[in-house]
Amino acid sequence: MRDQARVVVIGGGIAGCSALYHLTREGWSDVMLIERDELTSGTTWHSAAQVTNFGMNQTMIGLKSHSIRLYQELRDDPDYPVGYNYGDGGIRLANTQAQMDGYRHFASVAAGMGVDLEVIDADECARRHPLISTDNLLGGLWDPTDGHIDPAQLCQALARRARLAGAEVNRHTPVTGLTQHADNTWTVHTEKGDVRCEIVVNAGGYRCNEIGAMMGVSHPVASMEHQYFLTEDIPAIAEVGHRIPLLRCPISDYYSRQEKGGLLLGFYEQDCRPWGMDGIDPKFSNDLCPDDLDRITDVLEGAFARMPALMETGIRSVVNGPITYTIDGAPLVGPVPGKRNAFCIIGLRAGLGEGGGHGWLLAQQIVHGEAQYDTWVIDPRRFTGHASVELTSLKAIEDYRNEFRFHFPHEHRPAGRPMKTTPLTPVLVGEGAHMGTVNGWERIDYIKPSQEFEETLGFRFSEVDAIVGEEVNAVATAVGLTEVSGFNRFELTGMDVHNFLDRMICGTVTKRPGRVGLGYLLNRHGMLKAEATIANIPASDRGGDRVWYGSAAASEFHDMDWLRSHLGEDEDVSIRSLTNAQTILVLAGPKAREVLSQAARGDWSREAFPWLSVREAHIGIAPATVLSVSFSGELAYEIHVPNEGLYAAYLALRRAGEPHGLKLIGSRAVESMRLEKGYLHWKADILTEFDPFETGLDRFVKINKATFVGKDALLQRMEAGPTRRLVTLAINSDDAPALGGASVRVDGRIIGTVTSGGWGYRTNLNLAYAFLEPDFAVPGRETTVDIIGERVSARVIESGPYDPDLARVRA
Ligand SMILES: Cc1cc2nc3c(=O)[nH]c(=O)nc-3n(C[C@H](O)[C@H](O)[C@H](O)COP(=O)(O)OP(=O)(O)OC[C@H]3O[C@@H](n4cnc5c(N)ncnc54)[C@H](O)[C@@H]3O)c2cc1C
Repeated sequence: MRDQARVVVIGGGIAGCSALYHLTREGWSDVMLIERDELTSGTTWHSAAQVTNFGMNQTMIGLKSHSIRLYQELRDDPDYPVGYNYGDGGIRLANTQAQMDGYRHFASVAAGMGVDLEVIDADECARRHPLISTDNLLGGLWDPTDGHIDPAQLCQALARRARLAGAEVNRHTPVTGLTQHADNTWTVHTEKGDVRCEIVVNAGGYRCNEIGAMMGVSHPVASMEHQYFLTEDIPAIAEVGHRIPLLRCPISDYYSRQEKGGLLLGFYEQDCRPWGMDGIDPKFSNDLCPDDLDRITDVLEGAFARMPALMETGIRSVVNGPITYTIDGAPLVGPVPGKRNAFCIIGLRAGLGEGGGHGWLLAQQIVHGEAQYDTWVIDPRRFTGHASVELTSLKAIEDYRNEFRFHFPHEHRPAGRPMKTTPLTPVLVGEGAHMGTVNGWERIDYIKPSQEFEETLGFRFSEVDAIVGEEVNAVATAVGLTEVSGFNRFELTGMDVHNFLDRMICGTVTKRPGRVGLGYLLNRHGMLKAEATIANIPASDRGGDRVWYGSAAASEFHDMDWLRSHLGEDEDVSIRSLTNAQTILVLAGPKAREVLSQAARGDWSREAFPWLSVREAHIGIAPATVLSVSFSGELAYEIHVPNEGLYAAYLALRRAGEPHGLKLIGSRAVESMRLEKGYLHWKADILTEFDPFETGLDRFVKINKATFVGKDALLQRMEAGPTRRLVTLAINSDDAPALGGASVRVDGRIIGTVTSGGWGYRTNLNLAYAFLEPDFAVPGRETTVDIIGERVSARVIESGPYDPDLARVRA
């Protein structure tokens, strides 16, 4: 074993082998994999190893397509052909109209990535899968590429190719410790000696937290026991004359695929069991958990009813092994939060299907600093301080029980809630708030008309839309109040703060005390990395001059990482997070100034406190920092209050608001209003796949500035011209909104993708944002948008159709 390498990947399952291979493919050959036992001796060896192209967002679909292309290439490699049953086809079943709507939407998302999924009815399901009955079945989603691969051969093939490209693979070499040095390089300690390296990658599967502990971190990854069995041969399969398609069933929670002349059936039983919570036996390797078929009797009945041939079939063998989950079901592939030169590719619960793609996107992140798709949906920093193994295990159980039941729009599942709350949460719930969650924070979605009220979840407009409409109306005509919990807020102090921000932000950074500005941060490829509200708070009895950097709730770890990694050693800048210490109350509407003036001493007139100002004040008796900024398009104030004074401030605003008809509102109303204003959401509309010009943020770029991160690359991109442009669409439908990922077409050809959509109550328009090919990104251009299976006509309109002159915001 060498004692030095540029990258050491720890773990030789599909995650580690794929990461290693892709590092060599991206051009780094000085890389090493260290595995404590044989390759694939963790979960990978016993995987059912199904490989589908289905995904719920474009990044997941794109990375799965990469897996499939790679696996086909490996299958066809004459030197080391891998067993891969590509193209058996697979069906996701549905017995409700809402599920079918979801499949129609996901088929459109896939189409935008060049993947053909087909929505079929129950009879067609039975025609393609002759073993199933159509009882209690509406139809399904057909993936023609579905199949399965030999997991051991796949890993050996990837390791073999990596070795040929210069990588080293060390088996039977447990990693026992990790030491990080002052220059951020690492020593990897193993039972066979130390290896010095620049970068470490945790690919430890269900042991990822043992490796995490070696570097002082805990990953939100928990394991569940998961079982499948293999049946004896089934005569009906032989009679069919072709391979039987795969089946995934959200009605009865099982999957199946053909295995030789019989079936492999895997189960997601309700009586499920977390695994390894209190430590994992060091000898557990190439091993399985004890069979426990009693646990799956509930779901087995459903499988028998769907495939009656199973009732006359014996079980050949049972496999029960650990499978990893995260808080939201997607893996953690990217930088380890709070660490330098440390990456992970962990929490994979469909690692065979996805592993090829995850290794690819991880290697791109390591080598180029960013992957070709926006990787936020798998970024390990998308959870922040609340991301414990305890919470993860609760979410894992919930997710496991709902394996094939996708989340509906606006669905916030109950496990692990409430996780993060403010002193106001119980008060708001008492006032009828229906709460959603944002990065673990409870946040008002809308105010329910009665305690028993429940929304019908689905992909169409629902009964909640009328409620949201009333909330918007209150904001447009009088005044609304809402709480924005968990908003990310850093305080920057020091002599060099403005110079530092000037370097980080691609546009003008306001330096004037008492002023607020919006800025965008680019990566070194000139693409959009972050969005920040910069507020210059003048010195006061609460402290010296300070700058607040405000950004989306989930961005705390991401943005902190980005800012800290760019701080020069000799720069006088301190950054501390106030995210968990303060909460925002937003007051918005034409009466907002009157309410604020009654609740807080001081002159709040337009002249004394114009749009884009910041000032410290007291709301009633609660100290607060007030920003005159608006996400709703109405006159509005963001009132930041330390949590201990939040209730007092809230009471003061409610009292002051009463004579003005103040109404409590939720984030659904805010979402609708921001669409009418052309305002963007980070990671919905602001993505690393596009630069600020493509995203319509030209006015936030000051290209003549001496320097800023990403400037050179942005200049090159300007020369090349845009690949897409973000536009606003007005959609000709009052049945359903366009959702993120839906395809936009002209003459049937896909020319773009929706990022966000919803009803605009003040403009009475069904609005969406979409990135379109530049030729089509012209106001007046007619297109169609795929909305749950229909191609609905839509016109490109000017961005921000509501109050385009900003008269109301500046009022
Ligand atoms: C029953 C079952 C069925 C499944 N079916 C499917 C399916 O159909 N399709 C699909 O896509 N996925 C499926 N999965 C999930 C899939 O198998 C996993 O997502 C995948 O195998 C995880 O791979 P990994 O590389 O992350 O982890 P692992 O395979 O567990 O690899 C981690 C490796 O790290 C090594 N390691 C750990 N600690 C150290 C250390 N200190 N030093 C050195 N090495 C170390 C381990 O020995 C191990 O080899 C299934 C899982 C189960 C349990």
